[in-house]
Amino acid sequence: MDLPRIFTIRESGHRIHNPLTAGKLAALGESLRLAPGTRVLDLACGSGELLCTWARDLGITGTGVDISTVFTERARARAAELGVTDRVEFVHGDAAGHVADEPVDLAACVGATWIGDGVAGTAELLDRSLRPGGMTLIGEPYWRRTPPDEATARACHAASAADFLPLPGLIERFRELGYHVVEMTLADQDDWDRYVAAQWLTMRRWLDRNGDDELAAEVRDELNTEPARYARYGREYLGWGVFALMKR
Ligand code: SAH
Repeated sequence: MDLPRIFTIRESGHRIHNPLTAGKLAALGESLRLAPGTRVLDLACGSGELLCTWARDLGITGTGVDISTVFTERARARAAELGVTDRVEFVHGDAAGHVADEPVDLAACVGATWIGDGVAGTAELLDRSLRPGGMTLIGEPYWRRTPPDEATARACHAASAADFLPLPGLIERFRELGYHVVEMTLADQDDWDRYVAAQWLTMRRWLDRNGDDELAAEVRDELNTEPARYARYGREYLGWGVFALMKR
């Protein structure tokens, strides 16, 4: 059970595996006005940057679960680097169906709502770990511009245009699911560049060192095609945000 290696090749230079910059991740944490000692569960936590930096800066404690052995190892190393190993722990495992032993104050899934088969199922999954009155955090793409056809949606790495909503529609969807949206932090196009364009140099450097690897042809092909595809499609059509929710 592990994340396919192509992802860890593309994102080996990233601490945050989503379009939020380090500055916006910190601003998001501050915006939530979390008391020191707030207990956080982060499903699909990636390399643990949210938990580690919020533990250092805001005094939260927490657990992260991720299916990638590479990322969970990096998360543990980051916790040691930031001196927060007594406050955060990282578990390698499938987050689908994962429920905390003790209810938490804040339950998060930032950029992996497929673990609950979409936004509704992920909100429900997180709710099973949340204390009454707690806060839910969901990171999710939305259509910045409505794709004119299915080919455009697929070029944005969506299976279909129906995978995502426009921003107002996504916010209304949270309300329909029974939540108030109480905060949000959105990525702009420059933030997207830091997430996507930064992968190209990582891939190029990897390719220079690993020309004989079984994934070399795939990586070379991505380097040939992805930058223009991203400029034409993803950068124009896809938005991304993290939404803080509380039960209505
Ligand atoms: N929340 C992190 C990572 C987002 S990228 C951040 O914002 O930095 C998506 C993450 O989901 C990856 O780390 C990947 O390993 C993880 N993932 C994918 N499927 C998963 C599953 N079934 N259970 C747990 N983690 C999963």
